[in-house]
Amino acid sequence: MNVSTADQNFDSYKSKFIEQLWQMNPGWASHQGYTKYDDLLDIKTPEDRKKQIAQYEIWQNELKGFPLEKLSVLNRIDHKLIQNYINASLWHIHRYKAYEWNPSMYNVGEAFFKVLKRNYSSPKEKIRIITNKLSQVEKYYEVAKLSIKNPTREHTLLAIEQNKNSLNDFCIQFKDTLEKSELSSEEKNKITAQLEKAKNAVNHFTTFLEKEIVPAIDKGATRSFRIGKELYEEKFGFDIVSQHKASTVYEIALKRKEETHQKMKELSEKIWSKYFPNEPFNSDLKNIRKLIDKIALRHAHRDSFLTAIKKQIPELLKFITEHNLIGMDADKPLVVRETPSYMGGVAGASISSPGPYEKNADTYYNVTLLNHYSPEDAESYLREYNHYLLQVLNIHEAIPGHYVQLVYSNKAPSLIKSILDNGAMVEGWAVYTERMMLEEGYGNNEPELWLMYYKWSLRVTLNTILDYQVHVLNFQKEDAMKLLMEEGFQEKAEAEGKWRRATLSSVQLASYFTGFTEIYRLREDHKIKHGEKFNLRQWHEKFLSYGSAPVPYIREAMEEK
Ligand code: ZN
Ligand code: ZN
Repeated sequence: MNVSTADQNFDSYKSKFIEQLWQMNPGWASHQGYTKYDDLLDIKTPEDRKKQIAQYEIWQNELKGFPLEKLSVLNRIDHKLIQNYINASLWHIHRYKAYEWNPSMYNVGEAFFKVLKRNYSSPKEKIRIITNKLSQVEKYYEVAKLSIKNPTREHTLLAIEQNKNSLNDFCIQFKDTLEKSELSSEEKNKITAQLEKAKNAVNHFTTFLEKEIVPAIDKGATRSFRIGKELYEEKFGFDIVSQHKASTVYEIALKRKEETHQKMKELSEKIWSKYFPNEPFNSDLKNIRKLIDKIALRHAHRDSFLTAIKKQIPELLKFITEHNLIGMDADKPLVVRETPSYMGGVAGASISSPGPYEKNADTYYNVTLLNHYSPEDAESYLREYNHYLLQVLNIHEAIPGHYVQLVYSNKAPSLIKSILDNGAMVEGWAVYTERMMLEEGYGNNEPELWLMYYKWSLRVTLNTILDYQVHVLNFQKEDAMKLLMEEGFQEKAEAEGKWRRATLSSVQLASYFTGFTEIYRLREDHKIKHGEKFNLRQWHEKFLSYGSAPVPYIREAMEEK
C-alpha cells in the first residue's frame, strides 16, 4: 500500500467516523450546523452508553489499521485527534461521569433555539422538526432524572437557574411562527398543546431538583465541585493535550506571576511621576493599581465604543502587513456588529465563526453595546476596556488573533480538525498574538500599553493558578478573591465571576495560559534552531497551516524532516 492509498482509505474512514459520530450525538451535530438530526434530542440511557462504548471500540480497532507512518502529516494529526477523542470519551463514561453529578448538562433550551433560528426548505419543515423534537422532551427529562446521582450543590443550583424559563422565550417566538403558518387551526391547537406539555416537563425537572435533590444535599454529605488531583491531571491530559502535566504548568504560572509583577513595577516606576508628580513612588502592588486606575481613565465614549473598534481593524491589518508578520487574504471581511440578543447579552466581545457545515456564512465580531448599562456600569466597563486594553482585545479577537487563525484553518480544510479542535491551541494563539504584536513594536512600546498588557496577561496566568488551586489544592473562596483582587488588580465583580466559573468548570480556565506558553516556547526554540534563517512571518504561516490541532502535535509536524 503506497502513501496515497493509505491516505485515501483513511479519508473514507474519517467520513464514516463523522457520520456515525453525528448519529450518536444529534445535539452536537445540530450545534455544528449538520442538520440531518435536527429533529432529535440528545437522550442517553444507560443502554445508549453501552452502545457508545461498543462503537468506540470498533473505531479504535479500525484506527489500528492505519499505521501513522503511512499517512500524510495532516492525516497523522487527524489520526491522533480521533485517538484522543476515543480515549477521552471512554474516560468520561467510566471515570468522570458528569452525567451523574452535573444536572446542568440537561437543558433543552438551546437546542430548540438553534432550530428556530435555522433556515429550512420551508416553514412547514421547520414546524415539523420542532414538533418532532417537542415530542421527546418528556423522555429527555425522565432519563435525566434517572441519571442524576449525588450531584454537586453548585451544578444543581445552576441547573435550576438555567432550566427555569428555559423554553419561555422560545415558546413566545415559536407561537408567532405558528400563527403565521398555513396550518389549520386544529393542527395549531395540537402543536400548542404539545408545547405546553414540554414546558411542563421542564417544570417537573426543576421542581424535582428543588424539592428532592437540594434537600438531600442539605441533609447529607454532598459531592464536592472540586474534582481533585487525579481527575484534574487526567482531564488536563485529554482536554489540553499538553507536553506538560497540569502540576508543572501550575508551577510555571506561579513563576510567571512573579515575573509579571516585577515587570509592572519597573514600568510603573518609569511613568509614575507623569501621573502623580507630587507623590514619591514606592513599588508595592497597591501603587501599581492606583496607576492602572489612573491610566484607565482614557477610554472610548459609551456611544462610540463600536466605532472605536471598527476603526481599529484596518489599522491592525495595516500593521501586520507592513511589519511582515503574517499574510492575510480573506475572501470575506470580518463583520463587526452589535451582539445579537439571542446570544444572551453577555458583556464584552467575541468572534462567531461559521461552523464546518456553513462555510459560506460570514464571520462576525460581536460587540455588546452599552445602551442598557447604568452610567456607573458603563463607566466601569469602559475603564476596563480603556484606550489601551481595547487594542489588546482587538488583537486577541480579530487581527492577528482568532479571526486570522480561523482564516488559516479554513484554508487547510479538515472536518476532524474543526470538530475536534483544540481549545488550548486556539486560545493560546490569540494570547500569543497580543504579546507578539507588542514585541514587534505595535503601539511604539508605549509604557502605558505594556503596563495594561501585563495586567491583562496576568488574568490569563491567574486563571491557571486559580483553577489548579481550587480543584487540586482545596483553596477557599477568600484566598481566591485575595489572589485575583490584590495580585491580579481585578474588580470585585470580576473576581466573584471567576470564582463561580472555577466552581462550575475545570481545566478550561487553564487552556489559555498553557496554549500560549507552549506556542511561545515553540517559537523561541525554532528561533534558536534556525538562527539567522528564522523568519517570523513564515513561521506564523507554517504554524497555522496545521489547523486547530494541539500544540505538541504541531511541534512534531513542524520538526520532522
Ligand atoms: Zn470615564
Ligand atoms: Zn479568545
